[in-house]
Amino acid sequence: SAEAANRPHYTITTDTTYPPFEFQTESGEFKGIDMDLLKAISKRENFTYTLKPMSFNSGVQSVQAGQADAIIAGMSITDERRQSFDFSDPYYKSGIVIATSDKNKKINSLDDLKGQKVAVKTGTAGADYAQSLASKYNLQIVSFNDSNTMYADVMVGNEVAAFEDQPVMAYAIAQGTKMRIITDPANGGSYGFAVKKGSNAELLSKFNKGYASLVADGTYDKIVQSYLGKNA
Ligand code: GLN
Repeated sequence: SAEAANRPHYTITTDTTYPPFEFQTESGEFKGIDMDLLKAISKRENFTYTLKPMSFNSGVQSVQAGQADAIIAGMSITDERRQSFDFSDPYYKSGIVIATSDKNKKINSLDDLKGQKVAVKTGTAGADYAQSLASKYNLQIVSFNDSNTMYADVMVGNEVAAFEDQPVMAYAIAQGTKMRIITDPANGGSYGFAVKKGSNAELLSKFNKGYASLVADGTYDKIVQSYLGKNA
């Protein structure tokens, strides 16, 4: 219809797998808190989009290169990123934890990481946090493109621990990933929807407006609880 043709259309990138924020169902559909928020906001704010899932680091770069209009990928709002991105209002609180294989009983604190190999995901706040500890704890950092591959390598014992966001690591463990969190969340921050700095101001303001209306009428809580239960 003419109305549909007038709706702005955007290309929005997300992580390939970052449950409970984004993941692919067996039928190939992208689900998760980010995905449901984006869908609901697009309906309320009258825009359409093509979703481009890719590694988190590639997604970040594709927005910077102007190949995607925006990213929603459990992306932490950081001062460093604010220099090259404009962020929406924060929509979910997070922080970074360290997790070991649940078979490994020897790793119970940061001190136990001294001189060991640890796993991070390329381009993430967790990777930056590991880097900030690297000289003090003499860490050997091994990088991965996606969270699942990183967990798998820690579980076979190639690294003693992974740096991951608390809500994502806790969700993976609750879903059966055989790992154990050994630290309290550090470097707290919140997730935001992001566009390249100085561009797509209309999309950003639509996101903020739509998000505020989802919070106001309880839809936001319903979406979060549909993944995390009533205590979320
Ligand atoms: N929240 C982390 C960051 O922004 C990780 C995001 C992700 O892996 N999708 O760096």
